[in-house]
Amino acid sequence: MTEIAKKQKIRKQNILIVDDMPKNIMSLEKLLRKPDLNIVKATSGNDALALILEYDFALILLDVQMPEMDGFETAELIRGNEETKHIPIIFVTAISKEQKYVFKGYDKGAVDYLFKPLDPDILRSKVDVFLDMNKQKIQLEDTKNKLQRMVNELENTKKIIEKQNVLLKDTSIRDELTGLYNRRYLAEILEKEFSSAIRYKNELSCIMFDLDHFKKINDVYGHTFGDLVLRGISGCLQQTTRIQDFSFRYGGEEFMVLLPNTSIEGAMILAEKIRSTCEEKVHGDGINTIVVTVSVGVASAILHQPSNGKELIEFADKALYHAKAVGRNRAIIYNKRHSEK
Ligand code: GH3
Ligand code: MG
Ligand code: MG
Repeated sequence: MTEIAKKQKIRKQNILIVDDMPKNIMSLEKLLRKPDLNIVKATSGNDALALILEYDFALILLDVQMPEMDGFETAELIRGNEETKHIPIIFVTAISKEQKYVFKGYDKGAVDYLFKPLDPDILRSKVDVFLDMNKQKIQLEDTKNKLQRMVNELENTKKIIEKQNVLLKDTSIRDELTGLYNRRYLAEILEKEFSSAIRYKNELSCIMFDLDHFKKINDVYGHTFGDLVLRGISGCLQQTTRIQDFSFRYGGEEFMVLLPNTSIEGAMILAEKIRSTCEEKVHGDGINTIVVTVSVGVASAILHQPSNGKELIEFADKALYHAKAVGRNRAIIYNKRHSEK
């Protein structure tokens, strides 16, 4: 059994009988009574109007002749209310049988106009038509609500997936230990940044640096302490760079910064700042404290004319190795002599 069918089973349909004579109501009720039907009774137009706001009626059987407010007036008020105007109304009368009343009944929005004495089978089959229509309406509303809930759920799931994708993308381009960008992200942006700098004649510089005698630190204090130092150095790097710079963990203890719109002079100032910040940083785990220096190489796309991004990095790397060779703990600008040998 479908969800809708189940709901349908437990939900009774309401029908309203309006007549100023209780015995008329009783005889109609006797004709229509069945387990799935909730028969609501009103003995005046006013009572009927109050009940309509309270219940969801599948059909109203409305007496024409009533004191105070007659059936026509009651129907007119029902039709005049946006929330109740769609409820089908069947007029039932023993007296107003003339055609002008019948027309008036239809004019007031009736779907049918029945004369007493009523034929029980005809009445029941007419009522059943409206009960079926009401059932279909409820089913449609249920389906609509269910679909809306599904749409809402899908939208929520979409939002969650989008968030996860952003997170996943960020995780996949970052180094786990330091949180800096990784080589995968470098591969993604390097040549793009390089060709855009060349095309628009913008500056683009590169800084490479490597920890001095890091192997010794691992050997003496252990790998975990070495990792702590790498995180400390990455903190120094993040502290000195700007938001538009790209900072990478290039290798084990090698770092790289790609600097769009930065001249060799600007890059050299930053390189010196990185070097001095690292030199001043004290790394400690509560037991041991040490200081580590870095050697830095700097290259520029405009000054050194590399043929691609990869070569720009190679130039910075060569300058770095020159800095190592001439004593470490210094920043050096690439010179083509560094490529000779
Ligand atoms: P130099 O001044 O010439 O750079 O000497 P160095 O000892 O720093 O250079 P070398 O290349 O001989 O050693 C680099 C060391 O970095 C070796 C390796 O154990 C260490 N290393 C690389 N990646 C990691 C890492 O993720 N964690 C730790 N703790 N150590 C790392
Ligand atoms: Mg090193
Ligand atoms: Mg190294």
